[in-house]
Amino acid sequence: MLTQTLTHPLTSTPILPLAYLTIFAFGIVIGSFLNVCIYRIPRHETVVTTPSHCMNCGYPLRWFDLIPVFSWLALRGRCRKCGERISVQYPLIEAGNGLLWVATFALCGFSVLTLLDCLAVSALLVISLIDARTFEIPFSCNVFIGILGIFATIFDFGHMINHIAGFFGVALLLLLVYVLTGGRGIGGGDIKLMAATGLLLGFGCNLAGFLFGCLYASVIHIARMKLSGAESMLAMGPYLAAGTLTAMWFGERIVTWYLGFLV
Ligand SMILES: [Zn+2]
Repeated sequence: MLTQTLTHPLTSTPILPLAYLTIFAFGIVIGSFLNVCIYRIPRHETVVTTPSHCMNCGYPLRWFDLIPVFSWLALRGRCRKCGERISVQYPLIEAGNGLLWVATFALCGFSVLTLLDCLAVSALLVISLIDARTFEIPFSCNVFIGILGIFATIFDFGHMINHIAGFFGVALLLLLVYVLTGGRGIGGGDIKLMAATGLLLGFGCNLAGFLFGCLYASVIHIARMKLSGAESMLAMGPYLAAGTLTAMWFGERIVTWYLGFLV
């Protein structure tokens, strides 16, 4: 947890605003790629080689059509060629990812581990949207977070045991629920997700994230069922993602605050 002011090594002037602006810029560029993932992964299309095009007329997007957030605003949300509406989801995901990256760096400090956390947050964003629509967490996204977890374990080797315990902790508990309920209580994708985030964040933080996720799911989902008649079928992905984000951002502070009552 770092709260130091970042200053230029020679002039000692604060460079924090510039650092955050750079992080935001990288965040919205990655956000642009997340839009491609959210659209193509459920359709089992490749996310790397096919160039971006208008979904209506097939007009191949040029570089100036692909500037995150700004292109959408400049075109007022319509295709340059056929005028078909382009979903507001695109700029929202881009800007959202940029803001999530800035918040993660601001709350977790400037380190390699925070960069890994940011990439995981982006994957959680993709998981949330896809799971909410298809009730399926893409295996590739879980693998991606798992790989980030392996890097985190290597960079944070002083706490290697914590990362390995994180991999098994919540996931084994959910596996038990899965077996006991015959697969109705929890989805296989949720179990793999909790194993991956556990490896990344360590045992305590992951457990806190899971508990927050369950809390959000019970409060928000029941409210949605009551208010808007949402289906009783529950996609856990978005809630687990939100819980994991809460633990990643505030976990250490919450544990310190909680332990304050015990001593
Ligand atoms: Zn078009």
